Amino acid sequence: MEVIVAKTAGFCFGVKRAVDQVYEQLKRDDKPICTYGPIIHNEEVVRDLEEKGVRVIRSEEELEMIRDAVVVIRSHGVGRRIYEIMEKNGIEIVDATCPYVKKIHRIAEEQNRAGRRLIIIGNESHPEVEGIKGWGNDNTLVVETPEQVERLPLSEGEKLCIVSQTTFNYNKFQDLVEKISETRYDILVLNTICNATQERQVEAKRIASEVDAMIVIGGKSSSNTQKLYDICRRECKNTYYIQTLGDLDPDCGNSVRSVGITAGASTPNYIIEEVHTNVRVKF
Ligand code: SF4
Repeated sequence: MEVIVAKTAGFCFGVKRAVDQVYEQLKRDDKPICTYGPIIHNEEVVRDLEEKGVRVIRSEEELEMIRDAVVVIRSHGVGRRIYEIMEKNGIEIVDATCPYVKKIHRIAEEQNRAGRRLIIIGNESHPEVEGIKGWGNDNTLVVETPEQVERLPLSEGEKLCIVSQTTFNYNKFQDLVEKISETRYDILVLNTICNATQERQVEAKRIASEVDAMIVIGGKSSSNTQKLYDICRRECKNTYYIQTLGDLDPDCGNSVRSVGITAGASTPNYIIEEVHTNVRVKF
């Protein structure tokens, strides 16, 4: 049995940095430590942190009640309003927003100031997109599908700036940009898709096209893992989406000669290792 583990599987730079910052804060004992939203889309890690005393703040209303605490902003980032609430209430902010996301926040501010309407290509309910939107203005729009592009409420000759959710699929981004460009707007396109995502997707696609079965590891609410799964599934019908080793169907190794393994950006190394070892031993 041949087992290929993707080199790009697991934590990306931004997620590793955010998780490390929470563990770093745990060394202090002067204030309670909180994260604004789960630090990553991985239940195992979030549970471990909760057991160590880290509280997850799940809404703006809950944040409003917090005083005298340290709040870590996760790699997805947050909108301007969240910083304002924290500053108003004297909360100590540890900003673990990924620098690549931070860059999009700056673009949103600058381009709005320059008179361009911001269009974010991404999933409107994703926290990263909510955060980016929070640095735009009331005119900011979010699109994810060609149908939504057709319904964009734009006026003739409008100046636009298009950015992307960092984890968006590159080909879909290009298609949507082309569709928006069919109209006669003055468009500035900034491809803000993160290389970590692209590299992980390209490698996953290549491995999935070469193996008999493919395993994609990641949290069920992780959009980048879901996208990896979709890409792999197109190349390999025997693709399995698991959160941990416990979800792995023992029969999925039946009559396969090669297995590929990849994992989303929020999957800790120890889970990838566990699955890898198990596949080697049991398949
Ligand atoms: S995927 Fe890229 S942009 Fe997103 S947290 Fe990771 S390194 Fe940052």
